[in-house]
Amino acid sequence: MLDVSRSSPLTSDIQHLTSALMKLAAESQTHIQNFFRSHLRDETLELPSVSIYGNRFAGLLTGVCRVGGITFGRRIFVAPSFIKRNETGRLTIPGWLVAHEAMHMLQYKEHGTVGFLACYLHEFWQRLRETKRWDRAARMTAYLAIAEECVARAAEDAYCAWSGEDKDEG
Ligand SMILES: [Zn+2]
Repeated sequence: MLDVSRSSPLTSDIQHLTSALMKLAAESQTHIQNFFRSHLRDETLELPSVSIYGNRFAGLLTGVCRVGGITFGRRIFVAPSFIKRNETGRLTIPGWLVAHEAMHMLQYKEHGTVGFLACYLHEFWQRLRETKRWDRAARMTAYLAIAEECVARAAEDAYCAWSGEDKDEG
């Protein structure tokens, strides 16, 4: 589990949307960057600062897409159920989920936002056309087969091996 900190205190309903932005705590940001330096064998890798949204909008987005998280550029939207408060009152998020979504952040960084999304959607579309089925199961299969997703899932598993975190915990 990685610590996250809210960028502003939750003081009223009106602030709910903006205050839902969280950043990884500094030591968690370093921890996940160290993982990627080891995983991608690049000692100079700099992971951009990770912004996490776990608000109602993030819940809607991940719910509609039936995934735990979605990354747009440097913004990671996660299903609110993944954000928990630990015994000491700090908010936490599973490290493997951050590893998966941060891998997408690095893909965006490498290909640019338009390049990444174009590749990703093109591949999704291709897979769907190959199966000639458009139902939910076909969409899920197509999604899982996208190259960028396979790379992100590999990062997720490698993170668990590297950190000893159990994916089922929490
Ligand atoms: Zn993914």
